[in-house]
Amino acid sequence: MRFTRVLMLGWGLLGMVAVSGAVAGNAQPGLGQAGAPWAYEGKLGPLNWSHLDPAYKVCSEGHEQSPIDIRGARRNKALAPIEFHYVSGGMSLLNNGHTVQVTPPAGSYIIVNGERYDLVQFHFHHPGEEMVKGKLPDMSLHLVHRNAEGKLAVIAIRLNEGNANAVLAGLWEHLPKTVGATDKMTESMSPMGLLPADRAYWSYMGSLTAPPCTEGVKWIVFEQEVELSRDQLKSFGYLYKVNSRLEQPTHGRKIEASE
Ligand SMILES: [Zn+2]
Repeated sequence: MRFTRVLMLGWGLLGMVAVSGAVAGNAQPGLGQAGAPWAYEGKLGPLNWSHLDPAYKVCSEGHEQSPIDIRGARRNKALAPIEFHYVSGGMSLLNNGHTVQVTPPAGSYIIVNGERYDLVQFHFHHPGEEMVKGKLPDMSLHLVHRNAEGKLAVIAIRLNEGNANAVLAGLWEHLPKTVGATDKMTESMSPMGLLPADRAYWSYMGSLTAPPCTEGVKWIVFEQEVELSRDQLKSFGYLYKVNSRLEQPTHGRKIEASE
């Protein structure tokens, strides 16, 4: 079973080479970029990422890697609320062999402490990656944003089993089942619907959680969790049983909490 899965991932990655050309225009951070094949388990798994490609070295040598266990955050009154300027539209979904990645129509952005970051894509991890005081969520949603200088800000939302999530239900109908497959929502949705009601957050400097593990990423993790049903969890888990990286050492990094 395990062997089969590794093989399938291998084939998936071969598929990625073909797919990456088509999505390169979106500069998928850490996902679908040219680079050595990698996976979430086996020989190509997280413990070996740094040996797979010189470009992945920072995965093990970096001191600001993500995800981390969030604890001991300090309140910082200077952290302004994130301003959301997300627009509705049809979403494009791609099963890229590492996750299901959703590309929204252009025009959605956030303002973080006065700076604009455009929403580039969002994607999911199962189980979740943002541990809080030792507890992992069932899934994570990562909304990846980029500013004019190419710096990234990722908003992480922890998803836990509970009531069905109406917005995810719309997306899940279009989950592409096979690696390299795409789907497009004809109906309009807004990524706003994926956010928790309370937008208080933790913030710290980290990295992409997948190769090439690039650092200098501003992480914004919402304190409030969002629910999804057991069936919704299962639907994603059927496609990706494990597509998450374990907690990385903080090396004394500061975690701040908004008001
Ligand atoms: Zn992610």
